[in-house]
Amino acid sequence: MTMEFDRIVRGTLVLPDRLLPHGWVAISGERIVAIGNGPSPSAQSVEDFGAALVFPGFIDGQTHATSYKGLPGFEATSQSALAGGITTMVDMPFDNPDPLNTVERLALKVEALETLSYCDVALYATIAPGQGTAEMAKLAGAGVCAFKISSIESHPVRFPRLPADDTLAILKASVETGLPVGLHNEDQEIVRAAIAALKAAGRTSPEWHEPSRPLAAEMAATANFLELGKATGAHVHIVHISHPRGYDLVARYREEGVRATGEMCVHYLHFDAARDVGRLGARMKVSPPIRSGVLDALWQTLADGKIALVSSDHSSWPVDNKLVPSIFDAGAGIPGLETLVPSFFTDLSARVAEPARVLYEQVCEKPAKLFGLWGQKGALAPGFDADIAVLEAGSFPFDASATRDGLNWSPYDGETFGARIAATFLRGRKVWDGHDVFGSAGFGRYVKRAA
Ligand SMILES: [Zn+2]
Repeated sequence: MTMEFDRIVRGTLVLPDRLLPHGWVAISGERIVAIGNGPSPSAQSVEDFGAALVFPGFIDGQTHATSYKGLPGFEATSQSALAGGITTMVDMPFDNPDPLNTVERLALKVEALETLSYCDVALYATIAPGQGTAEMAKLAGAGVCAFKISSIESHPVRFPRLPADDTLAILKASVETGLPVGLHNEDQEIVRAAIAALKAAGRTSPEWHEPSRPLAAEMAATANFLELGKATGAHVHIVHISHPRGYDLVARYREEGVRATGEMCVHYLHFDAARDVGRLGARMKVSPPIRSGVLDALWQTLADGKIALVSSDHSSWPVDNKLVPSIFDAGAGIPGLETLVPSFFTDLSARVAEPARVLYEQVCEKPAKLFGLWGQKGALAPGFDADIAVLEAGSFPFDASATRDGLNWSPYDGETFGARIAATFLRGRKVWDGHDVFGSAGFGRYVKRAA
């Protein structure tokens, strides 16, 4: 008996353990059912991408889809994800106007994404200052993939600072849930004092952003959190580390047996503050800041195996929110869903021997495992969702005005990438063909963390 598949996708498959040239992925319904190479079985649709690299759909471990427009932000942000080869966004909880810190808010967010999102979405939750930890088990039971808190206030309601006693209680309670707790890692008093001093001196142009958030602020918050992880046994996840020293701290705590991980955002591997701030100004404002003179050392942390995953930290800020008279009034964060994979692959190709392998590990396998999505997301393997991103090598100028994120600006505008996303498939359905987003609002689903 022969079975006809719904769809065959052909190309150089990026499998968990090897590259498979002349490979094929067989899809039935929403799942991958077989993998092979050479002549493929019959199917209703066969798409042959030649020598192009066929990856599992990428997972962005850090997206802020809903922090500016609120829940309607899913609609454009998720289309941008598909254009960037990202089939699953892990969305942060600091939504406008209210953060996701209760099961009621989770239900509203799930309803919104299953109405508006074009891609699949896993969700972080948070806990507000003084809220207590009772909601954490309920949120975990409802499938959130992690908790996120901050040691610095970015907004009093949406993105507050958690006091140390709350942080300790949250970490203790997280152990029962098994979920990681992510930290935005900057010390509030140090940063606020530095900003006040710079403002008083009239130093408000973009080059003062980096000194306003000194390394001491980032390392002090990082070390504090790691020590609380040691005290509690919690999985302490630093959601962005801008400097090699932070990854070294995480590695030392890991050596001691602490469940510590450090996430890299791709822009830290691409920009250098001293080199680029004159050209980009507030367009490269992120927090913790892109630093000066550490690019090569950050790439070494990748080579040393100290990076838990690489993410975009995509923020949905309109450029008007950035280009304001004082750098201290500019929003922190940059769009990144359509540049994460092309820019990372381009830089990897210049710096490592096996760029496809590292890209797969950092943007498919590692985020899938850290956020509990493995088995469903993160690999081309039978039983996994038929999420596929096809990466075509070439020379592709990046034009931010053509992005799908509704923002249409980027610090990468005008750069030439060595690859682009030629096609994206989400659960068996073709949703991007290199030019247009297909699929539909609400095709995206809430992806729960596996128990
Ligand atoms: Zn972030």
